[in-house]
This record gives sequence, C-alpha cells and structure tokens, in this order.
Amino acid sequence: MAHRITLIPGDGVGPEVAEAARRCIEATGAKIEWEEVIAGQDAQVKFGELLPKNVLDSVKKNKVALKGPIITPIGEGFRSVNVAIRQALDLYACVRPAKSYPGVKSPYQDIDLVIIRENSEDLYAGIEFEEARPETKELISQIEKFSNKKIRPDSGISIKPISKFASERIIRFAFEYALKSKRKKITLIQKSNIMKFTDGLFLKVGRAVAKEYEGMVIFEEALVDNMAMQLVQKPRNYDVLVLPNLYGDIFSDLCAGLVGGLGVAPGANIGDDLAVFEAVHGSAPKYKGQNKVNPAAMILSGVLMLRHIKEDKAADNLENAVRAVLAEAKSVTYDLKPSRDDPSAVGTKEMADAIIDKLKK
Ligand code: NAD
Repeated sequence: MAHRITLIPGDGVGPEVAEAARRCIEATGAKIEWEEVIAGQDAQVKFGELLPKNVLDSVKKNKVALKGPIITPIGEGFRSVNVAIRQALDLYACVRPAKSYPGVKSPYQDIDLVIIRENSEDLYAGIEFEEARPETKELISQIEKFSNKKIRPDSGISIKPISKFASERIIRFAFEYALKSKRKKITLIQKSNIMKFTDGLFLKVGRAVAKEYEGMVIFEEALVDNMAMQLVQKPRNYDVLVLPNLYGDIFSDLCAGLVGGLGVAPGANIGDDLAVFEAVHGSAPKYKGQNKVNPAAMILSGVLMLRHIKEDKAADNLENAVRAVLAEAKSVTYDLKPSRDDPSAVGTKEMADAIIDKLKK
C-alpha cells in the first residue's frame, strides 16, 4: 500500500529543493501518495494567512510530512511558521545528523554526529516582552521584588522556561534513539553553572534518565561553551548530542559547518505520533527561482523520512546515490565546487537528475 505523505514545498528556494527531493524519493520506487499543501508566503498571497489550518490537519491525518524551508517575516508579529508548525504538532524532538560525505570539502573527515534538540521550550517558547511597554515595566518590577536584583528599566525580556517534563521527554528520546541506531554515547550540553534552575534542571533530569540506560549507552555532560571548543578541536570524540532548544539550534549549524555546510545538513522534527522532515537550511530568498541551491540537504531529509516509514532499502539506495554524486563532485551545485563561481556547477534540478541517474544504475 502507498504511504500517504504531506508535502509542504515552503517558500524562497523551498519549492525547488522540495521538488528535487520528491523526484528522487519517487525514483527509489517507494510507493508514495503526496498530499501537497501550501504554507508561507504563497499561502499568505493565496489564502491571506501564512499557516492555513489545512496544513496542520494534513500532517495530523497523514502523520508524516516533507517540508521545504519557510521565510520568517521580520517584524510582522508572526514569529515563525516553522516554529509554529513544531509547536502546534508537538514535534518536540529535532534530530539533525551531521555526517561527512567524501567529496564535500570540509576541514574534517569521518564525522558522524547526531544532534537531538529540544524543540518546544527554552528561549524559543516565544514569551517575550518588548522594551518600554507597560506590561514589561510591571514584569520588571515584579522580578525585582522577587529576585532582589535590578533590571535596567529600558530592557526587553525573553523568558526561558525549561520543564522537568520536556527535559525528560527529549533526553529519553535521545537514549532510545541511541539504542535504536546502535550509537554508543550521549553528551548532554548545558550551562548549569550559570543557569541553575533551567539548564541545571535539564542536567539533573539527564543524570536520572541516564541511570536507567547504564551499561547500554555511555552518558557524559558538557558545558556549552567548552563544548563549542571541543567540537571544533575533536569532533570525532562525540556521537549523539542532546541539547535544550537554543543551544541545539546553534550547534546544528556548527555541526553542519563541520561536514561541509548547510547544503548537506538534513533534519527531522519528531513527536510521539507525527514527524516532519526538513533541511536545516532556510529559504535562502536571494536564490529563489534561480535553480541554484544544493538540493542534497532536502534529499537527505527524504532519506530520513524513508527510514522513518520503514522503507529502509529505498533509504539506503537514495543515500548511496547522493553519496556517489557528492564523491564525484561533478554534477553538484556551486557550494560544493572549489570556488563559488565555478562554471562547471550545475543547478538544483540537474543535481537531482544526477542522483536519479545513479538510482537507475
Ligand atoms: P538560509 O539557510 O536560508 O541561508 C543562508 C545562506 O546559506 C544562503 O544565503 C546560502 O548562501 C546558504 N545556503 C542555504 N541553503 C543552501 C543550499 N541548499 N544550498 C546552497 N547554499 C545554501 O538562512 P537565512 O538567510 O538566515 O534565512 C533565510 C530565511 O529562512 C529566514 O526568513 C529564516 O527565518 C528562514 N529559515 C527557515 C528555516 C526553516 O524553514 N526550517 C530554517 C532556517 C531559516
């Protein structure tokens, strides 16, 4: 029976990379019936809203979606369609593998890390108070009363909630992921020496959960600043990293950088019942409609999606096809060439064609 999957092409370069991924996934022979729904700028023009209800309804019904990136409008009230989708569907775990592929230029080889980022709270909860507003002033005075600390009256405030519930859920997810994918070690990253009641709680919960997995998965803890240095110096010492939301976002890009950049960094947002697969990169609006950007991150997100729906053979074949095209470094986009203006660079569509050719062989 065909898998019914929601396809959200996104905006900016989203529709181009989503189309490349759809074609490659279909070329694996996996039976998929796509249900295409529109979110982002095209939805704003067509339906007057960035995230129409039918988008969320479609994912809830089909349980799995492949999504292109969506622009976050600056200063228009709506925080981010991407964050809104994750929150509305309670996709609490963001899984971002960072893996070296031969042919992709990077100072490092043989990197195989997985970032597991908490997706539902922390400074990304969207609880913010603008500078100089009456409610902000009131909040400042209450905080000063309770904390005995002074806050400058012209401050903006962002709230960082980290709960026991969400920490336990993501850390348990990380351990289960490690077991399932036969990974050996989890490093929990935080700044508990400074933020004792938020990062400190994340760490305390982590230590408790780790006890249940003793003898099965190695557990270690690291401070976020030190970890930034360790990852640059000795990335091969690490395996699975579990982090609160903000550090997870930053370290996802750092790890993408370790393996050659955003063009090859796939991702997944996973909840108890639903999963949305998307590249780490954004909608790169300046390249919209130019058939220029690298589709590999989106296609590799498709590989993760195929594994999720238990189409393992199709996933392996597609990953091998991507690996072969990257290794040849011939039919690849500008970002994978020795210089950005290399005339032999191909477009998004042509790189997908080359991957499809490998699948046929
Ligand atoms: P971006 O990832 O869109 O682009 C930054 C730069 O990275 C680009 O200019 C380009 O040089 C390079 N790049 C990105 N993707 C590439 C690819 N596939 N191939 C080759 N090069 C690539 O980040 P940004 O400019 O900070 O964000 C643009 C918009 O996307 C913003 O509105 C942002 O909020 C949004 N965004 C969306 C998502 C998402 O949909 N999940 C994620 C990040 C950013």
